[in-house]
Amino acid sequence: MSNPSILILAGDGIGPEVMDEVKKIITWFGAKRDLAFDVSEDLVGGAAYDAHGTPLTDATMDKAQNVDAVLLGAVGGPKYDVLDFSVKPERGLLRLRKEMDLFANLRPAQCFDALADFSSLKKDVVAGLDIMIVRELTSGIYFGEPRGIIVENNERVGINTQRYTESEIERVARSAFELAKRRGNKVCSMEKANVMESGILWREVVQKIHDEEYPEVELSHMYADAGAMQLCRWPKQFDVIVTDNLFGDLLSDAAAMLTGSLGMLPSASLGAPMANGRPKAMYEPVHGSAPDIAGEGKANPIACILSFSMALRYSFDLGAEADRLEAAVEKVLADGVRTADLLGPEDGTPVSTSEMGDKIIAALDASL
Ligand code: NAD
Repeated sequence: MSNPSILILAGDGIGPEVMDEVKKIITWFGAKRDLAFDVSEDLVGGAAYDAHGTPLTDATMDKAQNVDAVLLGAVGGPKYDVLDFSVKPERGLLRLRKEMDLFANLRPAQCFDALADFSSLKKDVVAGLDIMIVRELTSGIYFGEPRGIIVENNERVGINTQRYTESEIERVARSAFELAKRRGNKVCSMEKANVMESGILWREVVQKIHDEEYPEVELSHMYADAGAMQLCRWPKQFDVIVTDNLFGDLLSDAAAMLTGSLGMLPSASLGAPMANGRPKAMYEPVHGSAPDIAGEGKANPIACILSFSMALRYSFDLGAEADRLEAAVEKVLADGVRTADLLGPEDGTPVSTSEMGDKIIAALDASL
């Protein structure tokens, strides 16, 4: 059987810098764990625009459709702000998500003990936190029709439409239940069934999928506004949260910030299973291209490294190796190794992007 395939799209700004550290880790897994991956690389975002006049060529799109996992760095930068909307770097990313039909966006909020002081919440509220938000990514109010700004009775009216079909809810609910089975076996579904019909349908369909296919998983329902409060009050009550595109956008950002720096946050976007049983998948850090620090070796590579760890777990079924990589990150943080984003002004000397990668490799070596 051929090796699992990975397409690396490092992108712009700090994207290539943080991705270099992931490449070292992929090489480590090949050399030390006998896990070989077929890795190819291509351009996305501003880098692709500079080379080809488009943020994603058809050839790159084709490659992305035919690999087991895409790893993306970040796209964008001030240089491209003047471009027409149709060729902006972000369009490359949106095209990947849309054409690969990546409907389930997984955003973990995990608090490493060594960084618990970094949260804006009290240490005992966040220490040991490990929750996963599953956000529906390809439908809902960001895509629903009708939309637009019209004129009615001599004034302008802004319109967006929340719209979900049963099958769209069913597939993201299944993703959440499948995930919960591999974690704490609990799903909390969030909507606003008290004021939105789409919320009523959401609740009914999630309950039906639970009762018919996943009765062994604990399911609860919560209004999304109450959910936001509970996330700040006592986030450890949750395991997997499943919610729609709009609420997921807000709740996942809020949950992520419980855990500290943007440089620590990975994500996965998953679609339907391919012929080999693996889901269509793209893994990327939550952060952008950070033009303010690009090229200075200051970027924290951990978000990108943890995104690769999610690929090990969700695309390649290598949960034990993902645990190994996450434990190596935890060890390095516990040893006090910090990039600049994880340090206060009085907190000592930061390591560079590549030094952080090397420390994680050393911790991986020590794990053998
Ligand atoms: P950003 O995430 O790039 O940066 C926000 C702040 O966080 C900056 O101060 C930056 O230095 C810091 N930061 C981000 N990642 C870091 C890391 N790994 N290590 C240390 N510090 C880090 O967001 P922005 O400044 O709003 O956007 C910059 C560009 O990135 C824009 O062009 C935007 O469109 C694009 N963007 C791309 C993505 C993506 O590719 N998925 C996401 C968000 C923004």
